[in-house]
Amino acid sequence: MKIRRRDLLKGIAASGLLVAAEQSPAQAKRARKDLPPNAVGILYDSTLCIGCKVCEYACKQANNMPVEHTSSKEVMWDDPQDLSAKTLNIIKRYGVEGPKDTVEGFAFIKRHCMHCLDPACVSACPASALVKNPENGVVTYNKKACIGCRYCQVACPYNIPKFEWDSPFPEIVKCQLCAHLLVKGGISACCAACPTGASLFGPVEKLRSEAKRRMAMEPGEYYDFPVANIDGTEVQQHRAGAYVQHIYGERELGGSQVLYLAGVPFASLGLPELPEDSYVALADGIQYAIYKGMVYPLVVLGGLIYIIRNREEKKE
Ligand code: SF4
Ligand code: SF4
Ligand code: SF4
Repeated sequence: MKIRRRDLLKGIAASGLLVAAEQSPAQAKRARKDLPPNAVGILYDSTLCIGCKVCEYACKQANNMPVEHTSSKEVMWDDPQDLSAKTLNIIKRYGVEGPKDTVEGFAFIKRHCMHCLDPACVSACPASALVKNPENGVVTYNKKACIGCRYCQVACPYNIPKFEWDSPFPEIVKCQLCAHLLVKGGISACCAACPTGASLFGPVEKLRSEAKRRMAMEPGEYYDFPVANIDGTEVQQHRAGAYVQHIYGERELGGSQVLYLAGVPFASLGLPELPEDSYVALADGIQYAIYKGMVYPLVVLGGLIYIIRNREEKKE
């Protein structure tokens, strides 16, 4: 079933929420969500990434994802241009501006699900096909529950969930932090394969501390950097980069379990500038104000998140 923006808005208007959404959500918002007790995630450090794409390969292998051909050169084994129904994880290379609008160099960024603390996809899904694990916080997908409405796609502020348009039984596709490996005591395949430690798995609290340690390093000096798993034993020595003093994902939209460090502004790497309040918290607040604690129609929440997301992004 294809959802059009107009249909979403109609549903919302019928319930009176559109009027409420134009009022003051900032006053109505509910509290931020805390980290789950055993939250795990990924710290991606763009300054350590060499663009080898081994993490892309490992992701495909671990998740049985098909190769993707986007160019006419059949010799390419796999050449995704972006996240898609066949690609859960992608490394992109961005030009970095030099003086007077020149391109001075480049930097890499890795994109996949952020495993948000307050995930809009979970709140927007009327069938509970997307759930956030209360223990480790991983956002997973249950294809048996999915009704194909694609509200999650509309709601996600990072444009992550993809839909299998060319399948007779289409599913939503997104990174699930290799949940099938975590239950066996393993770690995310992309982190296990990364040769430099640019993708590092571990408890989110420890990853946050590690990110702060790196931001305090003297650029150009050598330091130890953990590889694969912050709780593991492997370390490598690297020169510290000149880090931007911001951990992307620590506070954006209420925070996420995937965190980023970089040596250039995140906006120049395609990561959106976002407010600290999650769109879900704002939408929940509005609905609570209208329905006064009664059960509210979940089916309109996806559209309400969409409206708030659009309006907040225009403010930025
Ligand atoms: S990034 Fe998007 S798909 Fe992933 S948890 Fe957040 S809202 Fe859901
Ligand atoms: S955590 Fe797993 S599914 Fe997600 S990007 Fe890494 S390898 Fe792919
Ligand atoms: S495996 Fe590591 S170094 Fe190679 S592209 Fe992926 S994140 Fe970068």
